[in-house]
Amino acid sequence: MGLVSAKDMLETARKEGYAVGQFNINNLEWTKAILTAAQEANSPVILGVSEGAARYMTGFDTVVGMVEGMLKNLDITVPVALHLDHGSFEGAKACIEAGFSSVMFDGSHYPIDENIEKTKEIVKYANERGISVEAEVGAIGGEEDGVVGTGEVADPQECKQIADLGVTMLAAGIGNIHGKYPDNWQGLSFDVLKEIQDITGQMPLVLHGGSGIPTDMIKEAISLGVSKINVNTELQLVFAEATRKYIEEGKDKVGKGFDPRKILKPGYERIIAGVKEKMDIFGSTNKA
Ligand SMILES: [Zn+2]
Repeated sequence: MGLVSAKDMLETARKEGYAVGQFNINNLEWTKAILTAAQEANSPVILGVSEGAARYMTGFDTVVGMVEGMLKNLDITVPVALHLDHGSFEGAKACIEAGFSSVMFDGSHYPIDENIEKTKEIVKYANERGISVEAEVGAIGGEEDGVVGTGEVADPQECKQIADLGVTMLAAGIGNIHGKYPDNWQGLSFDVLKEIQDITGQMPLVLHGGSGIPTDMIKEAISLGVSKINVNTELQLVFAEATRKYIEEGKDKVGKGFDPRKILKPGYERIIAGVKEKMDIFGSTNKA
């Protein structure tokens, strides 16, 4: 199956009370690991790509070519969306041109009127091509690809204004943070989440910064309309840990242990396990 928009998978998840994971890719190993995990778990999946990660992989065309090639060569039959994470206005358009099936336009750093205008234009451009669109209201705390947000809680009225533009899914700050959560973190603002859900109706909501949020909070968020959860940092940590262990144990100095395919294998396997674990928690296992 080729790439699909995130619309159907998220609307089904919203209705059936589970969430689809967005897992960010960085290179071939990450992409292969996440697609393999999704197929083994029989779960829909969203591959997230930041503009920085896309530049690292030499550009949007390379990303599309690699992912489409893998869908074919790995015989992937579960629904897969290729999604731009925290896209700029120009970046979102360029991704759609290159063949992404879903984009996030993050206008949360603009004044609300400008966010509305720009989101409206991206929605029009994407709708004509069957591409799903995620918009964001209220910056999300921590680091967004080099941009540090202050972690505000979104204004439900502004969420309604953006939701009404015809976006597929909406990301709203509810006390969630990108990266590692600090020890003094206050937790998610479920009151605000409930308000946003009530005012936006059936709009699938997106929870960014899914790494390190306790499982009971994840489940409560899903019960309040969160249908997409972004995971990035947690997988980077387990990948780094497994790779470090391989080197520290001197395995690269034994036989052909220096082969890059061998060096990256433990981290690759940890990503597969980590993704499947998240799919179980989010409830998307066997929902493909
Ligand atoms: Zn994010």
